[in-house]
Amino acid sequence: MRWINISCIFCLAMNLGCHKESADLIVFNGEIYTVNNRGDVAGAMVVRSGLVVEVGSESALKSKYHAAEEIDLHGKYVFPGFIDPHCHFFHYGLSMRQADLTGSVSQEEIGSRLQTHIKSRPASWVLGRGWDQNDWKDKQFPHKEFLDALFPDVPVYLARVDGHAAWVNSRALKLAHIHAGMTIEGGEIITDSHGATGILIDNAMSLVEKLIPSPTREEKIQALIRSQKDCFSVGLTTVGDAGLDRDMVTLMDSLQKNERLNMRIYAMLNPTPENISYFITHGVYRTDRLSVRSVKLYADGALGSRGALLKKEYSDDPGNRGIQLTPTGFLNEICRMAFSNGYQVNTHCIGDSAVSLILRLYAGIIPEHNDLRWRIEHAQVVDTIDLPLFGQYAIIPSIQTTHATSDMYWAEDRLGAERIAHAYAYRTLLAQNGWLANGSDFPVESINPLYGFYAAVARKDLKGFPQQGYRKQESLTRLQALQAMTIWAAKACFEEKDKGSLESGKFADFVVLGQDIMKAEEDSIPEIKVLETYVGGKKM
Ligand SMILES: [Zn+2]
Repeated sequence: MRWINISCIFCLAMNLGCHKESADLIVFNGEIYTVNNRGDVAGAMVVRSGLVVEVGSESALKSKYHAAEEIDLHGKYVFPGFIDPHCHFFHYGLSMRQADLTGSVSQEEIGSRLQTHIKSRPASWVLGRGWDQNDWKDKQFPHKEFLDALFPDVPVYLARVDGHAAWVNSRALKLAHIHAGMTIEGGEIITDSHGATGILIDNAMSLVEKLIPSPTREEKIQALIRSQKDCFSVGLTTVGDAGLDRDMVTLMDSLQKNERLNMRIYAMLNPTPENISYFITHGVYRTDRLSVRSVKLYADGALGSRGALLKKEYSDDPGNRGIQLTPTGFLNEICRMAFSNGYQVNTHCIGDSAVSLILRLYAGIIPEHNDLRWRIEHAQVVDTIDLPLFGQYAIIPSIQTTHATSDMYWAEDRLGAERIAHAYAYRTLLAQNGWLANGSDFPVESINPLYGFYAAVARKDLKGFPQQGYRKQESLTRLQALQAMTIWAAKACFEEKDKGSLESGKFADFVVLGQDIMKAEEDSIPEIKVLETYVGGKKM
Protein backbone atom coordinates (compact mmCIF):
# COMPACT_ATOMS: atom_id res chain seq x y z
CA MET A 1 0.00 0.00 0.00
CA ARG A 2 1.27 3.51 -0.75
CA TRP A 3 0.18 6.94 0.37
CA ILE A 4 1.53 10.43 0.22
CA ASN A 5 3.01 11.49 3.54
CA ILE A 6 0.67 14.38 4.27
CA SER A 7 2.21 15.38 7.58
CA CYS A 8 5.60 15.98 5.99
CA ILE A 9 4.15 17.85 3.03
CA PHE A 10 2.49 20.00 5.67
CA CYS A 11 5.84 20.44 7.42
CA LEU A 12 7.45 21.49 4.18
CA ALA A 13 4.61 23.75 3.11
CA MET A 14 4.53 25.56 6.42
CA ASN A 15 8.31 25.58 6.58
CA LEU A 16 8.01 24.28 10.12
CA GLY A 17 11.39 22.66 10.03
CA CYS A 18 10.50 19.15 11.19
CA HIS A 19 14.21 18.30 11.49
CA LYS A 20 13.83 15.36 9.15
CA GLU A 21 15.69 14.91 5.92
CA SER A 22 13.44 14.80 2.89
CA ALA A 23 13.40 11.82 0.55
CA ASP A 24 11.35 10.56 -2.39
CA LEU A 25 10.50 7.10 -1.15
CA ILE A 26 10.73 4.86 1.87
CA VAL A 27 9.99 1.14 1.67
CA PHE A 28 9.47 -0.64 4.98
CA ASN A 29 8.02 -3.63 6.80
CA GLY A 30 9.78 -6.22 4.64
CA GLU A 31 13.02 -8.16 4.43
CA ILE A 32 15.49 -6.25 2.34
CA TYR A 33 18.45 -8.35 1.22
CA THR A 34 21.14 -5.72 0.71
CA VAL A 35 23.79 -8.13 -0.71
CA ASN A 36 26.42 -5.91 0.90
CA ASN A 37 29.72 -7.31 2.23
CA ARG A 38 28.21 -8.24 5.56
CA GLY A 39 25.12 -9.87 4.05
CA ASP A 40 22.81 -7.51 5.96
CA VAL A 41 19.05 -7.96 5.77
CA ALA A 42 17.28 -4.72 6.66
CA GLY A 43 13.70 -3.67 7.39
CA ALA A 44 13.57 -0.39 5.49
CA MET A 45 15.22 1.60 2.71
CA VAL A 46 15.18 5.28 1.78
CA VAL A 47 15.45 6.51 -1.83
CA ARG A 48 16.15 10.01 -3.13
CA SER A 49 16.84 11.17 -6.71
CA GLY A 50 16.94 7.59 -7.97
CA LEU A 51 19.60 6.50 -5.47
CA VAL A 52 19.57 4.55 -2.23
CA VAL A 53 20.15 7.01 0.63
CA GLU A 54 20.17 4.62 3.57
CA VAL A 55 19.17 1.09 4.49
CA GLY A 56 18.34 0.22 8.09
CA SER A 57 15.59 -0.38 10.60
CA GLU A 58 12.12 1.01 9.99
CA SER A 59 12.06 2.97 13.25
CA ALA A 60 15.47 4.56 12.72
CA LEU A 61 14.79 5.55 9.14
CA LYS A 62 11.26 6.80 9.74
CA SER A 63 12.45 9.07 12.53
CA LYS A 64 15.26 10.42 10.36
CA TYR A 65 13.48 10.92 7.00
CA HIS A 66 10.19 12.12 5.68
CA ALA A 67 9.46 10.74 2.26
CA ALA A 68 6.98 11.89 -0.39
CA GLU A 69 5.92 8.27 -0.89
CA GLU A 70 5.86 5.31 1.45
CA ILE A 71 5.49 1.65 0.51
CA ASP A 72 4.47 -0.92 3.08
CA LEU A 73 5.99 -4.22 1.92
CA HIS A 74 3.67 -6.25 4.21
CA GLY A 75 6.47 -8.71 4.97
CA LYS A 76 7.55 -9.25 1.35
CA TYR A 77 11.15 -9.63 0.16
CA VAL A 78 13.36 -7.11 -1.58
CA PHE A 79 16.51 -7.90 -3.56
CA PRO A 80 18.81 -5.76 -5.70
CA GLY A 81 17.56 -5.62 -9.31
CA PHE A 82 18.72 -8.71 -11.15
CA ILE A 83 21.51 -8.39 -13.69
CA ASP A 84 21.91 -10.70 -16.70
CA PRO A 85 25.56 -10.23 -17.66
CA HIS A 86 25.27 -12.13 -20.95
CA CYS A 87 22.11 -12.18 -22.99
CA HIS A 88 20.77 -11.00 -26.32
CA PHE A 89 18.32 -8.29 -25.31
CA PHE A 90 17.69 -6.84 -28.76
CA HIS A 91 17.57 -10.21 -30.53
CA TYR A 92 15.12 -11.53 -27.97
CA GLY A 93 12.73 -8.71 -28.85
CA LEU A 94 13.36 -9.21 -32.54
CA SER A 95 12.78 -12.96 -32.32
CA MET A 96 9.16 -12.23 -31.53
CA ARG A 97 8.61 -11.76 -35.29
CA GLN A 98 9.79 -15.35 -35.83
CA ALA A 99 7.93 -18.58 -35.16
CA ASP A 100 8.81 -19.89 -31.71
CA LEU A 101 9.98 -23.50 -32.15
CA THR A 102 11.43 -24.03 -28.68
CA GLY A 103 10.45 -27.26 -26.99
CA SER A 104 9.02 -28.85 -30.16
CA VAL A 105 9.28 -32.63 -29.87
CA SER A 106 9.14 -33.53 -33.58
CA GLN A 107 9.53 -32.11 -37.07
CA GLU A 108 5.78 -32.50 -37.56
CA GLU A 109 5.21 -30.17 -34.61
CA ILE A 110 7.57 -27.64 -36.17
CA GLY A 111 5.63 -27.88 -39.44
CA SER A 112 2.35 -27.10 -37.74
CA ARG A 113 3.84 -24.26 -35.66
CA LEU A 114 5.21 -22.70 -38.85
CA GLN A 115 1.83 -23.01 -40.61
CA THR A 116 0.09 -21.27 -37.70
CA HIS A 117 2.75 -18.57 -37.60
CA ILE A 118 2.58 -17.62 -41.28
CA LYS A 119 -1.22 -17.47 -41.15
CA SER A 120 -0.97 -14.69 -38.58
CA ARG A 121 2.05 -12.96 -40.17
CA PRO A 122 2.43 -13.54 -43.89
CA ALA A 123 5.91 -12.44 -45.02
CA SER A 124 8.39 -12.90 -47.84
CA TRP A 125 10.48 -15.23 -45.62
CA VAL A 126 9.43 -17.90 -43.14
CA LEU A 127 11.55 -17.33 -40.03
CA GLY A 128 11.72 -19.40 -36.88
CA ARG A 129 14.00 -20.14 -33.98
CA GLY A 130 14.49 -22.57 -31.13
CA TRP A 131 14.48 -26.08 -32.65
CA ASP A 132 16.71 -28.70 -31.06
CA GLN A 133 17.14 -32.11 -32.68
CA ASN A 134 18.11 -33.50 -29.26
CA ASP A 135 14.45 -33.13 -28.28
CA TRP A 136 13.34 -35.42 -31.13
CA LYS A 137 13.14 -39.19 -31.19
CA ASP A 138 16.02 -39.84 -33.64
CA LYS A 139 18.19 -36.91 -32.44
CA GLN A 140 19.46 -36.46 -36.01
CA PHE A 141 19.87 -33.14 -37.83
CA PRO A 142 16.78 -32.50 -40.01
CA HIS A 143 16.77 -32.20 -43.83
CA LYS A 144 15.64 -29.52 -46.28
CA GLU A 145 13.19 -32.00 -47.89
CA PHE A 146 10.83 -31.72 -44.94
CA LEU A 147 10.66 -27.94 -45.36
CA ASP A 148 10.51 -28.15 -49.18
CA ALA A 149 7.30 -30.18 -48.98
CA LEU A 150 5.68 -27.44 -46.87
CA PHE A 151 7.24 -24.38 -48.48
CA PRO A 152 8.37 -25.05 -52.06
CA ASP A 153 8.39 -21.37 -53.11
CA VAL A 154 9.12 -19.25 -50.04
CA PRO A 155 12.59 -19.22 -48.43
CA VAL A 156 12.70 -20.68 -44.92
CA TYR A 157 15.35 -19.94 -42.25
CA LEU A 158 15.05 -21.67 -38.88
CA ALA A 159 17.75 -21.02 -36.27
CA ARG A 160 18.67 -23.78 -33.86
CA VAL A 161 18.07 -23.13 -30.14
CA ASP A 162 21.74 -22.20 -29.57
CA GLY A 163 21.87 -19.85 -32.57
CA HIS A 164 24.82 -21.86 -33.94
CA ALA A 165 23.05 -23.78 -36.72
CA ALA A 166 20.28 -23.06 -39.21
CA TRP A 167 17.85 -25.33 -41.02
CA VAL A 168 16.87 -23.91 -44.40
CA ASN A 169 14.88 -25.09 -47.44
CA SER A 170 15.96 -25.47 -51.08
CA ARG A 171 14.59 -22.04 -52.00
CA ALA A 172 16.86 -20.38 -49.41
CA LEU A 173 19.88 -22.44 -50.54
CA LYS A 174 19.22 -21.39 -54.13
CA LEU A 175 18.91 -17.69 -53.28
CA ALA A 176 22.24 -17.90 -51.40
CA HIS A 177 23.91 -19.84 -54.27
CA ILE A 178 24.91 -22.59 -51.85
CA HIS A 179 25.96 -25.85 -53.42
CA ALA A 180 27.70 -29.04 -52.36
CA GLY A 181 31.47 -28.79 -52.20
CA MET A 182 31.40 -25.15 -51.10
CA THR A 183 33.50 -24.38 -48.03
CA ILE A 184 33.43 -21.48 -45.63
CA GLU A 185 35.96 -20.56 -42.95
CA GLY A 186 34.61 -21.03 -39.43
CA GLY A 187 31.52 -22.79 -40.69
CA GLU A 188 30.19 -25.93 -42.32
CA ILE A 189 27.64 -26.72 -45.00
CA ILE A 190 26.38 -30.20 -44.20
CA THR A 191 26.04 -32.41 -47.26
CA ASP A 192 24.93 -35.91 -48.16
CA SER A 193 25.18 -37.83 -51.44
CA HIS A 194 22.51 -35.54 -52.98
CA GLY A 195 24.20 -32.26 -52.01
CA ALA A 196 23.59 -29.67 -49.27
CA THR A 197 21.11 -31.00 -46.72
CA GLY A 198 19.86 -27.60 -45.60
CA ILE A 199 21.85 -27.57 -42.34
CA LEU A 200 24.30 -24.70 -42.03
CA ILE A 201 26.69 -24.51 -39.09
CA ASP A 202 28.12 -21.30 -37.58
CA ASN A 203 29.67 -18.98 -40.21
CA ALA A 204 27.83 -20.81 -43.02
CA MET A 205 24.57 -19.51 -41.58
CA SER A 206 25.40 -15.97 -42.62
CA LEU A 207 25.29 -16.94 -46.31
CA VAL A 208 21.51 -17.13 -45.98
CA GLU A 209 20.99 -14.86 -43.00
CA LYS A 210 22.36 -11.83 -44.81
CA LEU A 211 19.57 -12.16 -47.42
CA ILE A 212 16.77 -11.85 -44.86
CA PRO A 213 15.24 -8.36 -45.06
CA SER A 214 16.49 -6.36 -42.08
CA PRO A 215 13.99 -4.85 -39.65
CA THR A 216 12.97 -1.22 -40.04
CA ARG A 217 13.93 1.35 -37.39
CA GLU A 218 10.40 1.21 -35.99
CA GLU A 219 10.54 -2.61 -35.83
CA LYS A 220 13.83 -2.34 -33.94
CA ILE A 221 12.31 0.11 -31.46
CA GLN A 222 9.32 -2.16 -30.93
CA ALA A 223 11.67 -5.12 -30.39
CA LEU A 224 13.59 -3.23 -27.69
CA ILE A 225 10.43 -2.11 -25.92
CA ARG A 226 8.97 -5.60 -26.04
CA SER A 227 12.17 -7.06 -24.63
CA GLN A 228 12.29 -4.45 -21.87
CA LYS A 229 8.72 -5.25 -20.82
CA ASP A 230 9.48 -8.96 -20.50
CA CYS A 231 12.75 -8.26 -18.63
CA PHE A 232 11.05 -6.03 -16.05
CA SER A 233 8.39 -8.69 -15.49
CA VAL A 234 11.10 -11.10 -14.26
CA GLY A 235 13.09 -8.53 -12.26
CA LEU A 236 15.94 -7.71 -14.63
CA THR A 237 17.15 -4.12 -14.31
CA THR A 238 20.46 -4.44 -16.21
CA VAL A 239 21.27 -6.58 -19.23
CA GLY A 240 24.62 -7.28 -20.88
CA ASP A 241 23.74 -7.39 -24.57
CA ALA A 242 26.39 -9.61 -26.16
CA GLY A 243 27.24 -8.48 -29.69
CA LEU A 244 25.91 -5.08 -30.85
CA ASP A 245 26.78 -2.66 -33.63
CA ARG A 246 27.11 1.11 -33.67
CA ASP A 247 23.62 1.87 -35.04
CA MET A 248 21.92 -0.31 -32.40
CA VAL A 249 23.96 1.14 -29.53
CA THR A 250 23.21 4.70 -30.63
CA LEU A 251 19.50 3.81 -31.00
CA MET A 252 19.50 2.39 -27.46
CA ASP A 253 21.26 5.51 -26.18
CA SER A 254 18.72 7.85 -27.77
CA LEU A 255 15.73 5.79 -26.55
CA GLN A 256 17.19 5.84 -23.03
CA LYS A 257 17.73 9.58 -23.18
CA ASN A 258 14.11 10.24 -24.17
CA GLU A 259 12.88 7.80 -21.48
CA ARG A 260 11.38 5.23 -23.84
CA LEU A 261 13.95 2.73 -22.66
CA ASN A 262 14.54 2.49 -18.90
CA MET A 263 16.53 -0.74 -18.98
CA ARG A 264 20.20 -0.29 -18.10
CA ILE A 265 22.38 -1.84 -20.79
CA TYR A 266 25.94 -3.09 -20.81
CA ALA A 267 26.70 -3.13 -24.52
CA MET A 268 29.29 -5.58 -25.85
CA LEU A 269 30.46 -4.57 -29.30
CA ASN A 270 31.05 -6.77 -32.31
CA PRO A 271 34.64 -6.34 -33.57
CA THR A 272 33.71 -4.47 -36.78
CA PRO A 273 35.83 -1.66 -38.26
CA GLU A 274 32.94 0.77 -37.72
CA ASN A 275 32.51 -0.13 -34.03
CA ILE A 276 36.25 0.14 -33.49
CA SER A 277 36.62 3.58 -35.06
CA TYR A 278 33.38 4.99 -33.60
CA PHE A 279 33.62 3.59 -30.05
CA ILE A 280 36.70 1.63 -29.08
CA THR A 281 39.42 4.02 -30.21
CA HIS A 282 37.57 6.82 -28.36
CA GLY A 283 37.63 4.95 -25.04
CA VAL A 284 34.83 4.13 -22.64
CA TYR A 285 31.33 5.60 -23.21
CA ARG A 286 29.15 5.80 -20.14
CA THR A 287 25.76 7.23 -19.12
CA ASP A 288 23.51 6.32 -16.16
CA ARG A 289 21.88 3.66 -18.30
CA LEU A 290 24.47 2.67 -20.87
CA SER A 291 28.00 1.39 -20.66
CA VAL A 292 30.17 0.76 -23.74
CA ARG A 293 33.57 -0.61 -22.80
CA SER A 294 33.73 -4.20 -24.00
CA VAL A 295 34.09 -6.22 -27.16
CA LYS A 296 32.50 -9.61 -27.83
CA LEU A 297 34.43 -12.27 -29.71
CA TYR A 298 33.65 -15.83 -30.77
CA ALA A 299 36.25 -18.56 -30.46
CA ASP A 300 34.01 -21.49 -31.40
CA GLY A 301 30.44 -22.71 -31.94
CA ALA A 302 28.17 -24.72 -29.66
CA LEU A 303 28.17 -28.27 -28.31
CA GLY A 304 24.65 -29.20 -29.46
CA SER A 305 25.52 -28.55 -33.12
CA ARG A 306 29.05 -30.00 -32.68
CA GLY A 307 30.64 -26.65 -33.42
CA ALA A 308 32.32 -26.38 -30.00
CA LEU A 309 36.10 -26.68 -30.49
CA LEU A 310 37.43 -29.70 -28.62
CA LYS A 311 40.98 -30.89 -27.96
CA LYS A 312 39.98 -34.41 -28.94
CA GLU A 313 37.29 -35.65 -31.33
CA TYR A 314 33.61 -35.75 -30.42
CA SER A 315 32.69 -38.99 -28.69
CA ASP A 316 29.66 -39.32 -30.99
CA ASP A 317 31.31 -38.04 -34.19
CA PRO A 318 34.73 -39.59 -34.87
CA GLY A 319 37.17 -37.27 -36.63
CA ASN A 320 35.22 -34.10 -35.75
CA ARG A 321 36.82 -31.66 -33.29
CA GLY A 322 34.44 -28.77 -33.93
CA ILE A 323 34.96 -25.34 -35.46
CA GLN A 324 37.19 -22.38 -34.66
CA LEU A 325 34.96 -19.48 -35.64
CA THR A 326 37.51 -16.69 -35.75
CA PRO A 327 41.14 -16.96 -36.91
CA THR A 328 43.69 -16.70 -34.09
CA GLY A 329 45.50 -13.78 -35.74
CA PHE A 330 42.33 -11.68 -35.81
CA LEU A 331 41.44 -12.59 -32.19
CA ASN A 332 44.93 -11.54 -31.13
CA GLU A 333 44.75 -8.26 -33.05
CA ILE A 334 41.37 -7.31 -31.51
CA CYS A 335 42.49 -8.26 -27.98
CA ARG A 336 45.61 -6.08 -28.28
CA MET A 337 43.60 -3.18 -29.64
CA ALA A 338 41.06 -3.54 -26.80
CA PHE A 339 43.84 -3.70 -24.21
CA SER A 340 45.46 -0.50 -25.45
CA ASN A 341 42.09 1.31 -25.40
CA GLY A 342 41.01 0.17 -21.93
CA TYR A 343 38.32 -2.16 -23.25
CA GLN A 344 37.27 -5.47 -21.74
CA VAL A 345 37.25 -8.58 -23.96
CA ASN A 346 34.48 -11.17 -23.59
CA THR A 347 35.01 -14.25 -25.72
CA HIS A 348 32.52 -17.04 -26.38
CA CYS A 349 34.31 -20.34 -25.60
CA ILE A 350 32.40 -23.61 -25.24
CA GLY A 351 34.87 -26.41 -26.00
CA ASP A 352 38.03 -27.14 -23.99
CA SER A 353 40.25 -26.27 -26.95
CA ALA A 354 38.55 -22.88 -27.39
CA VAL A 355 38.86 -22.14 -23.66
CA SER A 356 42.54 -23.09 -23.73
CA LEU A 357 43.22 -21.01 -26.84
CA ILE A 358 41.64 -17.86 -25.39
CA LEU A 359 43.06 -18.19 -21.88
CA ARG A 360 46.55 -18.43 -23.38
CA LEU A 361 45.89 -15.64 -25.84
CA TYR A 362 44.68 -13.33 -23.03
CA ALA A 363 47.69 -14.36 -20.90
CA GLY A 364 50.00 -13.20 -23.68
CA ILE A 365 48.52 -9.70 -23.50
CA ILE A 366 47.30 -8.88 -19.98
CA PRO A 367 49.50 -8.96 -16.85
CA GLU A 368 49.01 -11.47 -14.04
CA HIS A 369 46.64 -10.60 -11.18
CA ASN A 370 45.14 -7.61 -12.97
CA ASP A 371 41.74 -5.94 -12.52
CA LEU A 372 40.84 -5.92 -16.21
CA ARG A 373 38.09 -8.55 -15.77
CA TRP A 374 38.48 -10.08 -19.23
CA ARG A 375 35.86 -12.75 -19.50
CA ILE A 376 35.39 -16.21 -20.95
CA GLU A 377 31.72 -16.48 -21.92
CA HIS A 378 30.12 -19.89 -21.20
CA ALA A 379 33.34 -21.77 -20.25
CA GLN A 380 31.46 -25.04 -20.63
CA VAL A 381 34.26 -27.57 -21.03
CA VAL A 382 37.52 -26.72 -19.28
CA ASP A 383 40.56 -29.00 -19.24
CA THR A 384 42.03 -29.15 -15.70
CA ILE A 385 45.45 -28.21 -17.08
CA ASP A 386 44.06 -24.82 -18.20
CA LEU A 387 42.05 -24.11 -15.05
CA PRO A 388 44.76 -22.24 -13.05
CA LEU A 389 45.05 -19.58 -15.79
CA PHE A 390 41.67 -18.17 -14.71
CA GLY A 391 43.09 -17.27 -11.30
CA GLN A 392 46.59 -16.37 -12.44
CA TYR A 393 45.34 -13.79 -14.97
CA ALA A 394 42.13 -12.89 -13.10
CA ILE A 395 40.02 -14.05 -16.06
CA ILE A 396 36.34 -14.18 -15.15
CA PRO A 397 34.07 -17.10 -16.07
CA SER A 398 30.76 -15.70 -17.34
CA ILE A 399 28.52 -18.75 -17.01
CA GLN A 400 24.91 -19.78 -17.64
CA THR A 401 23.85 -22.38 -15.11
CA THR A 402 20.73 -23.31 -17.09
CA HIS A 403 23.00 -24.57 -19.89
CA ALA A 404 24.01 -27.44 -17.58
CA THR A 405 20.44 -28.49 -16.93
CA SER A 406 19.38 -28.05 -20.57
CA ASP A 407 22.37 -29.94 -22.02
CA MET A 408 22.62 -32.70 -19.40
CA TYR A 409 20.42 -35.06 -21.44
CA TRP A 410 22.92 -35.32 -24.34
CA ALA A 411 26.19 -33.57 -23.35
CA GLU A 412 27.81 -36.85 -22.31
CA ASP A 413 27.08 -38.31 -25.78
CA ARG A 414 29.18 -35.51 -27.27
CA LEU A 415 31.96 -35.55 -24.65
CA GLY A 416 32.16 -39.06 -23.17
CA ALA A 417 32.42 -40.02 -19.51
CA GLU A 418 35.89 -38.57 -18.90
CA ARG A 419 35.41 -35.09 -20.34
CA ILE A 420 31.92 -34.60 -18.92
CA ALA A 421 33.55 -34.54 -15.47
CA HIS A 422 35.16 -31.20 -16.47
CA ALA A 423 32.07 -29.67 -18.05
CA TYR A 424 29.55 -27.27 -16.49
CA ALA A 425 31.87 -27.27 -13.45
CA TYR A 426 30.61 -24.04 -11.95
CA ARG A 427 31.77 -24.50 -8.37
CA THR A 428 35.24 -25.33 -9.66
CA LEU A 429 35.18 -22.21 -11.86
CA LEU A 430 33.97 -20.05 -8.97
CA ALA A 431 36.94 -21.18 -6.88
CA GLN A 432 39.45 -19.78 -9.40
CA ASN A 433 38.85 -16.10 -8.55
CA GLY A 434 36.36 -16.35 -5.69
CA TRP A 435 33.63 -14.88 -7.87
CA LEU A 436 31.94 -15.27 -11.26
CA ALA A 437 28.94 -13.97 -13.18
CA ASN A 438 25.82 -15.98 -14.00
CA GLY A 439 23.44 -15.09 -16.81
CA SER A 440 21.01 -16.81 -19.13
CA ASP A 441 22.13 -16.15 -22.73
CA PHE A 442 18.42 -15.56 -23.48
CA PRO A 443 16.78 -16.27 -25.90
CA VAL A 444 18.94 -19.43 -25.89
CA GLU A 445 17.49 -20.09 -22.42
CA SER A 446 14.50 -18.59 -20.63
CA ILE A 447 14.65 -14.90 -19.77
CA ASN A 448 13.80 -15.64 -16.09
CA PRO A 449 16.90 -15.18 -13.87
CA LEU A 450 15.31 -17.24 -11.08
CA TYR A 451 15.62 -20.30 -13.33
CA GLY A 452 19.38 -19.66 -13.41
CA PHE A 453 19.40 -19.24 -9.64
CA TYR A 454 17.57 -22.55 -9.26
CA ALA A 455 19.82 -24.36 -11.77
CA ALA A 456 22.90 -23.04 -9.92
CA VAL A 457 21.68 -24.20 -6.54
CA ALA A 458 19.69 -27.37 -7.29
CA ARG A 459 21.29 -28.40 -10.63
CA LYS A 460 17.81 -29.50 -11.78
CA ASP A 461 15.67 -28.48 -14.74
CA LEU A 462 12.13 -27.18 -14.49
CA LYS A 463 10.78 -30.74 -14.33
CA GLY A 464 12.75 -31.15 -11.10
CA PHE A 465 15.05 -33.61 -12.87
CA PRO A 466 17.27 -35.25 -11.74
CA GLN A 467 15.98 -35.62 -8.23
CA GLN A 468 19.44 -35.52 -6.64
CA GLY A 469 20.70 -32.75 -8.93
CA TYR A 470 22.95 -33.15 -11.97
CA ARG A 471 26.55 -33.57 -10.70
CA LYS A 472 25.48 -31.75 -7.58
CA GLN A 473 29.08 -31.34 -6.41
CA GLU A 474 29.30 -28.44 -8.88
CA SER A 475 26.33 -26.53 -7.41
CA LEU A 476 26.61 -23.05 -5.88
CA THR A 477 25.23 -21.99 -2.52
CA ARG A 478 22.17 -19.74 -2.53
CA LEU A 479 24.28 -16.78 -1.45
CA GLN A 480 26.79 -17.38 -4.25
CA ALA A 481 23.97 -17.80 -6.77
CA LEU A 482 22.41 -14.52 -5.58
CA GLN A 483 25.74 -12.68 -5.76
CA ALA A 484 26.38 -14.11 -9.25
CA MET A 485 23.23 -12.39 -10.56
CA THR A 486 23.62 -9.16 -8.58
CA ILE A 487 26.90 -7.82 -7.19
CA TRP A 488 29.24 -10.17 -9.07
CA ALA A 489 27.32 -9.67 -12.31
CA ALA A 490 27.71 -5.91 -11.76
CA LYS A 491 31.43 -6.41 -11.14
CA ALA A 492 31.76 -8.36 -14.40
CA CYS A 493 30.46 -5.15 -16.06
CA PHE A 494 32.62 -2.75 -13.94
CA GLU A 495 29.47 -1.42 -12.28
CA GLU A 496 29.73 -2.73 -8.72
CA LYS A 497 30.10 0.83 -7.40
CA ASP A 498 26.70 1.78 -8.87
CA LYS A 499 24.59 -1.35 -8.63
CA GLY A 500 24.38 -4.99 -7.61
CA SER A 501 23.66 -4.26 -3.93
CA LEU A 502 21.35 -1.94 -2.00
CA GLU A 503 23.72 0.45 -0.28
CA SER A 504 24.00 4.19 0.19
CA GLY A 505 24.82 5.98 -3.07
CA LYS A 506 23.89 3.15 -5.42
CA PHE A 507 21.05 3.11 -7.94
CA ALA A 508 17.71 2.27 -6.33
CA ASP A 509 17.21 -0.70 -8.65
CA PHE A 510 15.32 -3.38 -6.75
CA VAL A 511 12.71 -6.11 -6.99
CA VAL A 512 9.91 -7.21 -4.67
CA LEU A 513 9.23 -10.95 -4.36
CA GLY A 514 6.35 -12.70 -2.68
CA GLN A 515 8.57 -15.49 -1.31
CA ASP A 516 12.12 -15.61 -0.03
CA ILE A 517 14.40 -17.31 -2.57
CA MET A 518 17.05 -17.67 0.14
CA LYS A 519 14.84 -19.82 2.36
CA ALA A 520 12.02 -21.23 0.23
CA GLU A 521 11.79 -24.98 -0.29
CA GLU A 522 14.27 -25.67 -3.11
CA ASP A 523 11.89 -27.06 -5.71
CA SER A 524 9.49 -24.15 -5.24
CA ILE A 525 12.09 -21.58 -6.40
CA PRO A 526 11.13 -21.61 -10.12
CA GLU A 527 7.53 -20.82 -9.20
CA ILE A 528 8.45 -17.69 -7.21
CA LYS A 529 7.21 -14.55 -8.88
CA VAL A 530 8.72 -11.09 -9.12
CA LEU A 531 5.85 -8.83 -8.06
CA GLU A 532 7.41 -5.44 -8.74
CA THR A 533 10.55 -4.09 -10.38
CA TYR A 534 12.03 -0.64 -9.66
CA VAL A 535 14.68 1.16 -11.66
CA GLY A 536 16.13 4.30 -10.10
CA GLY A 537 13.39 4.23 -7.46
CA LYS A 538 10.61 4.20 -10.07
CA LYS A 539 8.23 1.31 -10.53
CA MET A 540 8.48 -0.15 -14.02
ZN1 LIG B 1 25.27 -15.45 -26.25
